[in-house]
Amino acid sequence: MEKKLTREHVFYAFEPGLEPALRVEQGEEFVLETHDCFTGQLKTEQDLLDTLDWDRVNPATGPVYIENVQPGDVLKVDILKLKVVGQATMVTFPEEGVLGDRITKMETAVLKYKGDHVIFKDKISIPMAPMIGVIGVAPAGGRIPNGEPAAHGGNMDCTLITEGVSVYFTASVPGALFGCGDFHAVMGDGEIVICGAETPGEVRLTAQVVPALKGLPTPFIENPELFSAVASAGTLDQAGSDATHNMADFMTKFAGLSINDSGMLMSLVGQLKVCQVVDPQKTARFEFPKWVLKEYGFQMPT
Ligand code: CA
Ligand code: ZN
Repeated sequence: MEKKLTREHVFYAFEPGLEPALRVEQGEEFVLETHDCFTGQLKTEQDLLDTLDWDRVNPATGPVYIENVQPGDVLKVDILKLKVVGQATMVTFPEEGVLGDRITKMETAVLKYKGDHVIFKDKISIPMAPMIGVIGVAPAGGRIPNGEPAAHGGNMDCTLITEGVSVYFTASVPGALFGCGDFHAVMGDGEIVICGAETPGEVRLTAQVVPALKGLPTPFIENPELFSAVASAGTLDQAGSDATHNMADFMTKFAGLSINDSGMLMSLVGQLKVCQVVDPQKTARFEFPKWVLKEYGFQMPT
């Protein structure tokens, strides 16, 4: 029978003591249904943000225990299929987000779907680009609310995390305790008013350890075109610097380039980008094209 968790199986913080809701073998496919980041509390445009129960935001579905994963292992999570369902909501709130100083009116917008487009206020038809906002594994200790991004993953709101990508995490506890949620039907880099098209969804995944990647700076993303290092910190400056250093570490330690060649190539064809700027911890990523490393004979270990 298919391994699946329905969207009632949520948790609100990544922590080592979570009780597994599902156990899977490495490489075994499993499906997670997810709530939107408001746990479905905003259904109409009359449901404003001030009615929200803030103890029920940013749910992640899981946790999933992956067999034979040990602390320190690098776990490759493949996103095989990602679909959004229902409708999306988004909100504005005075004093929230980058434009909080200008926004004076609380508003909830419901965005319906038409085929593979998201309809904004019956006027603008936006191509869907489904992505996962919250995705990660339990940290070694403590409790990290799902609204926070950190080294374990969490609320990275990275637009690269779409169908067909691999996301790498470092397990800190046995079984890793993986979970994800906070899907967006579409979102711009920065997520400037604090949300994208917030939507329920469903994702099909596999997860397996890649022994040859032990020590990889994580979170790390691979898609058919590029590698990306992701980092979160208290300022965007620091997050950008950390993501850049992490990519340089990958290129020197795993792809075998010198630091000078890495730096020059990163300055020529690498892209330092913003994921989100609306959480206390900001998230940045450094993208580097795969084809360049292929010229150096590098192939990602599997
Ligand atoms: Ca988010
Ligand atoms: Zn979200």
